[in-house]
Amino acid sequence: MYLTRGEDRLPHLYDFSATDGSDKDLLGGKGAGLARMTSLGLPVPPGFTITTEVCRQTMVAGDVPDELWSEVDAAVARLEEKTGRTFGSGPVPILLSVRSGAKFSMPGMMDTVLNLGINDEVVKALIEWSGDPHFGWDAYRRFLQMYGDVVLGIDEKLFQDVLTELRSDRDVIDDSELTADDLEEAARRFRAIIERERPGRLPDEPMQQLRGAITAVFKSWNTKRATDYRRIHSIPHELGTAANVQMMVFGDLGDDSGTGVCFTRDPGTGDRVLYGDYLPRAQGEDVVAGIRNTLTLNELAGLHPECHDQLIGIMNGLEKHYRDMCDIEFTIERDVLYILQTRAGKRTAAAAVKMAVSMVHEGLIDKATAVTRVEPASLEQLHRPRVANSVRASSAMASGVAASPGAATGKVVFTSEDAVEQMRHGETVILVRPETAPDDIHGMDAAAGILTSQGGKTSHAAVVARGMGKPAVTGAAELLVDARAGIASTDTVDLRKGDTITIDGTKGLVFLGEVELVAPDVPPQLGELLEWADEFRRMGVWANADTPQDARLARSRGAQGIGLARTEHMFLGKRLAIVQRVILSTDPKERERALVELELQQVGDFEGLLEAMDGLPVIIRLLDPPLHEFLPSRLELEQEMLRRVRAGQPIDDLQAMSDQVARWEEDNPMLGLRGVRLGIHIPELTKMQVRAIFEAACKCAKDGVKVKPEVMIPLTAHVNELKVQQTALEAVAKQVTKEQGLKIEYKFGTMVEVPRAALTAEQIAEYAQFFSFGTNDLTQMTFGISRDDAESGFLMEYLDKQILPENPFASIDEDGVGKLMEWAVQQGRKTRPGMEIGICGEHGGDPKSVWFCHKIGLNYVSCSPFRVPIARLAAAQAALGESNPDK
Ligand code: ADP
Ligand code: MG
Ligand code: MG
Repeated sequence: MYLTRGEDRLPHLYDFSATDGSDKDLLGGKGAGLARMTSLGLPVPPGFTITTEVCRQTMVAGDVPDELWSEVDAAVARLEEKTGRTFGSGPVPILLSVRSGAKFSMPGMMDTVLNLGINDEVVKALIEWSGDPHFGWDAYRRFLQMYGDVVLGIDEKLFQDVLTELRSDRDVIDDSELTADDLEEAARRFRAIIERERPGRLPDEPMQQLRGAITAVFKSWNTKRATDYRRIHSIPHELGTAANVQMMVFGDLGDDSGTGVCFTRDPGTGDRVLYGDYLPRAQGEDVVAGIRNTLTLNELAGLHPECHDQLIGIMNGLEKHYRDMCDIEFTIERDVLYILQTRAGKRTAAAAVKMAVSMVHEGLIDKATAVTRVEPASLEQLHRPRVANSVRASSAMASGVAASPGAATGKVVFTSEDAVEQMRHGETVILVRPETAPDDIHGMDAAAGILTSQGGKTSHAAVVARGMGKPAVTGAAELLVDARAGIASTDTVDLRKGDTITIDGTKGLVFLGEVELVAPDVPPQLGELLEWADEFRRMGVWANADTPQDARLARSRGAQGIGLARTEHMFLGKRLAIVQRVILSTDPKERERALVELELQQVGDFEGLLEAMDGLPVIIRLLDPPLHEFLPSRLELEQEMLRRVRAGQPIDDLQAMSDQVARWEEDNPMLGLRGVRLGIHIPELTKMQVRAIFEAACKCAKDGVKVKPEVMIPLTAHVNELKVQQTALEAVAKQVTKEQGLKIEYKFGTMVEVPRAALTAEQIAEYAQFFSFGTNDLTQMTFGISRDDAESGFLMEYLDKQILPENPFASIDEDGVGKLMEWAVQQGRKTRPGMEIGICGEHGGDPKSVWFCHKIGLNYVSCSPFRVPIARLAAAQAALGESNPDK
């Protein structure tokens, strides 16, 4: 961009016409868009952008830098010259908006003040100029309301109460139906409220108003709701926002004016159709606030044919220019069209997939861009349930706008506070509101779904829900929601807090109680997108699967191997009794017999897995959990003994068992006799497993299956553990393959899940032929935190208080656990160049962690079969070295 450099520093602000809008970091998304559209010759009201750098300085210094104001004065003078209007006086007064706008869009999260530069004198000049007292007083009361709320921090409700009273006096439902006299009265009462609440703080002087608003916009970066939003969407707190000052255009200037929002494709489905909402005689947030029901683009064509055609041309042009779906704000002032904002539109996961693929086919973008257009984690949405077709729409208690797809069943709550509170108690809730506002962000985050009685597809509730990937129904007009009284009613049903409802955000329906939900339809374009992802990624994606069914599912989703097959599940159910005989029997013969029985069963287990993964590696982990998990509890045994004593029956066998169980008891089993320690302590168990693995492998190989078993020893801490255990097990493998006369490609390796193993990876790699990071245990042991206890306890408090930036069990803690991993990779490959190293902890399906694994050079990530597509996409994005630009 062509920034003009000042004497010794960059300017604090740039006119929209001064740059080409390519520097989003400095101008924020909104400012960059306004500058770009200006440079493209679109009808953008003139203005200027105060940079994000000023916001960062403000955060450091605690106040806006003083040198800013002379630049603002000069910029306003340029605006007056350009428009022939004057700031703060007639004959044609210019009013201004002050709008926040960070690099990544945070819709509605920060503040904007409209109609600035108005006072008792200016309003008269405005009325004179427009010939419309209704408009003049409406502008004035809106300014007082926003300035009072945003800049002076007065409770919005005080203003709303005045409007409510006036509306009920007039018996009208919408503010636009109030008379000019009513609005004048509102303005008078608003001034009185401000004078009462913040004496002397409302400046009449327009330049003072402007300074107040600019300061407030910068400070709104750090409000709770903005901070919450950034945390949920992983937007860095230190970016700061820009502030855009712009000439107002008026959508409330009589019936041939209005305001609207449009999308260049359907943000819900991704279909290539233009979509929009228009509201005549309205300004600013009226459309998104969902106060009145909006008109469609077709209806707009009826009212303003020329503006409509011009808008369609602009929509098509902007989409071609940005090569992405655009979300556009526009206003019509007395039949003249203005464009107020454009940005890459928020979309559902299904729409993102569909748009990305079809834009490649249309020649608008290349495959690499398409792959970066879809947020990997959002693919989970595609697998979100929907309401079964058998559920009749006519059984719905209400209907509204299908604002964000998917279905959710939960208990009704009416406030965001309740939503958070109930969620903490493990309830699934649906947040029911007349409409949502930016303050509801934490409640929406806590809820499983959102239902509002007002607003359309572009309302706040709809936009935010789509961004969060939650089902939402908006504008369910039959539903009267009285949040304060805690009741929502239709003609026939009353909903109260705690009642169960199901919302269908795909069709826009609300059902009382639970209805049948079914698995969703994955968009047909997903396969193609993932194939493109596969062309770019360098890391393999494997899956964690314990059964042949899971293995087949994983394979169908693109898994290239099994990174973790756990064997402990195979010991439960009917086999538990056999396992108990192995552990508890004091007679060696009896134990031997039990082991042979188990082995036979295990051969079958492993055959199934190897067959399902024909040609691909399968990592089988030897028995890991502490043995007490397979034993009856002593309490149960004692109760049973008591019962028998009462019935006069002998208890010797139970007593013996109870003594044995006591022998295996540990105070801290997770740090006890498990993993490789168990294998060393009872070698028969792991030897039996290895024999079963290789017998299965030989059987499969004889049937023509290409087998690649890899035997994984868990919980190694010291190389000597591996030396003892692995040597013994390798001998078994050799013996079996020799007996069968077959050559089989196999590996022995270990999980790296104890910090000491990571630290001594160089030694461990002398034995281990592969490593697999067990990041669940590695995180627990590195932090010294027991996950199960902490996640329902103090860990949440840590996150609330920002003691930890994020949950280390969800995303790899790069500074700590990550460092251990990086070290282990380097050291392991020092001993064994090119060593195969992967991850099998749950982090393997977390996009951010996948990114990290790519960076430290892992060969593959292994995750649950459901997350395989997510990992494929994330690995491709990591390889393309880009973060998702659609934030
Ligand atoms: P947000 O980031 O929440 O979308 P905006 O800064 O876009 O906030 O402004 C809020 C509303 O005010 C939007 O509907 C916008 O179109 C409207 N608005 C902002 N500036 C102007 C202006 N100069 N003239 C008319 N309407 C405006
Ligand atoms: Mg906006
Ligand atoms: Mg483990």
